[in-house]
Amino acid sequence: MNGLPVLIAGGGIGGLAAAVSLARNGIRSVVLERNPGFQEIGAGIQLGPNALAVLDRIGAGARVRERLIPVGYLEIRDALEGRRLIRLDLQGAFRRRFSAGYGVIHRGDLLTALYETCKASELIALASAAEVTGWDERPDRVEARTADGRRWEGRCVIAADGLHSWLRQGIAGDGDPIPSGHATFRCLVPPERMPEHCRVDGAVLWAGPDCHLVHYPLKDRKVYNAVITVNDGSTDVARGETVPDAQVRRLFDSVGDQARAFLNAGTGWRRWTLRDREPADTWVKGRAALLGDAAHPMLQYAAQGACMAIEDAAVLADRLAEHEDPQAALDVYATERQGRTARVQRLSRWMATEVYHPGGPPAKRRDAMLLGLDEERLLHHLTWLYTPFGATA
Ligand SMILES: Cc1cc2nc3c(=O)[nH]c(=O)nc-3n(C[C@H](O)[C@H](O)[C@H](O)COP(=O)(O)OP(=O)(O)OC[C@H]3O[C@@H](n4cnc5c(N)ncnc54)[C@H](O)[C@@H]3O)c2cc1C
Repeated sequence: MNGLPVLIAGGGIGGLAAAVSLARNGIRSVVLERNPGFQEIGAGIQLGPNALAVLDRIGAGARVRERLIPVGYLEIRDALEGRRLIRLDLQGAFRRRFSAGYGVIHRGDLLTALYETCKASELIALASAAEVTGWDERPDRVEARTADGRRWEGRCVIAADGLHSWLRQGIAGDGDPIPSGHATFRCLVPPERMPEHCRVDGAVLWAGPDCHLVHYPLKDRKVYNAVITVNDGSTDVARGETVPDAQVRRLFDSVGDQARAFLNAGTGWRRWTLRDREPADTWVKGRAALLGDAAHPMLQYAAQGACMAIEDAAVLADRLAEHEDPQAALDVYATERQGRTARVQRLSRWMATEVYHPGGPPAKRRDAMLLGLDEERLLHHLTWLYTPFGATA
């Protein structure tokens, strides 16, 4: 086996999970992160049982679970009238089918849990302020360059550099991700500001025409994560700029009293615009491969972007451990992951148009569909998604 480490460009959720998975397989890695530290902005993330099972398997589960909130249910409500359309209890039958469970976590806490797991391994080197600007391929290795002039030798390079992946251009060369026309605003709401009907132990989604609003508890239930999304045709690139509350609230004019009370509780909103891509066939070029959002950016509506990155990480590490030749390993990894991640990318778009954002008659059809789903059928529909790697043999 080539003794050189795997070079991982990007120390986000996918990059750190890849390092942890590789170490689990006895493979050294170097994580090159452009930021001065390994940090995430203050917002929440949902982790499905597929991701939690993988985190357990790669040895990061205990640290993640120390910080995870295993919320009691997922619920969709009509944002106009407030009516509950569907609720999925996450204990009981859900837990019997998906034993790893479901939870929500502050992004910073998830990254810290992965970071601590990396620090505990002698096989992982973490380099911050190391922006990868290119790499050269040699017959037996790659040499990555960082903006500070350093060069790094590895057996292969993994592009885990996120939605706006720069490395992707050297691998797939397919330009910018596609604007969805949707903008998302996030903030954290202290319990005393939350209206009574929203102070609940579930992840609740209020679905309205061309918009939806989500809240769930975070940080030992001491705060609520608020994420609200509008289809306003935005095409700019926004990465967390602060927007005045009044401006945000105006975008959600159509919602009814219950959803509005939640909207009004939020303050200090920050704005992101959402992009994704069509599923792509090219994830690998020579000794370089894509992982996470760099490979399969998706809208957040299935709450699976990070979950898929975590699954990618485990598969990548297993294949690199099995194959002497890194190129062969990367090819097998890509083939194994492309079908599943493409399905989740498509599901995420479908959720926007058919479930979260329809208005008028399509909303009525959505309501009928959701109200007609019993628990058993819902769990059946979710099995491919929530089973790690989709392996439902
Ligand atoms: C509003 C919103 C809500 C979401 N909710 C969920 C959810 O509930 N559940 C879920 O599973 N997913 C969710 N997602 C998706 C999830 O956030 C992403 O899929 C996930 O963060 C992707 O991880 P990643 O490691 O691929 O990329 P990132 O987390 O973006 O990490 C990329 C890293 O690469 C670094 N980097 C970039 N360029 C370079 C370079 N040239 N050299 C070195 N480093 C570089 C960056 O600084 C960053 O640290 C949500 C997304 C959004 C926008």
